[in-house]
Amino acid sequence: MDKILVIDDSAVQTEFLNSILKNDYEITMCQTAADGLRTAKEGGFSLILLDVVMPDIDGFTLIRELKATDLTRHIPVIMITGLADIQYEERGLLLGAVDYIAKPFSPAIIKARVNTHIQLYHYQSQFQEQALVDELTGVANRRRYEAESAARWKDAIRFGQSFSLCMFDIDKFKVYNDTFGHPAGDRVIAAVAKEVSSHFRRATDLFARYGGEEFIAVFVGGDGQSAFDFLKTIRQAVEDLHIPHNPSVGDWVTISVGGVTLTPTSSDNYATYLKLADTMLYDAKRLGRNRVIWSSSGREQLREK
Ligand code: GH3
Ligand code: MG
Ligand code: MG
Repeated sequence: MDKILVIDDSAVQTEFLNSILKNDYEITMCQTAADGLRTAKEGGFSLILLDVVMPDIDGFTLIRELKATDLTRHIPVIMITGLADIQYEERGLLLGAVDYIAKPFSPAIIKARVNTHIQLYHYQSQFQEQALVDELTGVANRRRYEAESAARWKDAIRFGQSFSLCMFDIDKFKVYNDTFGHPAGDRVIAAVAKEVSSHFRRATDLFARYGGEEFIAVFVGGDGQSAFDFLKTIRQAVEDLHIPHNPSVGDWVTISVGGVTLTPTSSDNYATYLKLADTMLYDAKRLGRNRVIWSSSGREQLREK
């Protein structure tokens, strides 16, 4: 059941709204703007009904805060007021309200508008989600990778953390497709993504489909050796899925992995290290595939096998 937050200083008013909506929605009622803001930040609301006139902070000030706060920006707000004046309506909409309902209101209109906005909210959330998730595998897509990796890189510089950047490529996948067909190939890409992503469990880990049968990961903390060991485990886990390959290639579907660990400073360039990770991947292919090759600042290449 969707959750709606009602922020209105009048207990009579909130109770009235509650009675109209409580059969279809889970209603939380707040009687001050401060309480409303705090509750909204707790999350999970699909809609906020906000009174314009309140004694502590008025609705216009509160909506400005809601729209300036990351945790609450996405929640649609319907303004409710007795000030049935075009100027107020304009002001509310300009500040980011999705709709405006003037008191006294009819239960039928409240219900209809609330239903509409909840539905729109769901479409929007779904759309935003899809825009960042790879459809075939369910992992982050290239777009999300581009947006998030830049932020992670900046954080690592700011906090002086080590940063690892890692590229994966399924071995001899063209042969796989040619042997078993493209739909079977798609299922392999999804299975590999599922296995690899299951190892990236930390909130700061980012694993994404980079394109085709290639994936990319960025993560922070640990030295080059520990990153190398971690990726060896993941590479082995993919081999252990025991997905049969064309026997001319090998028994099972495998991946090659190339990566780099460094502690970046503001004079470092992300693209340089992306290129280095790609070179490591190229070396892994060149040296025989199904292996991890890692570059760790100031050390010689770490090679599996
Ligand atoms: P290597 O070991 O050198 O990586 O060999 P490879 O055959 O995997 O490399 P190559 O880059 O030549 O071929 C990648 C193949 O991956 C080509 C393409 O048909 C296949 N591929 C890319 N994206 C998809 C996809 O979304 N689905 C399927 N089924 N195949 C894909
Ligand atoms: Mg490739
Ligand atoms: Mg490949």
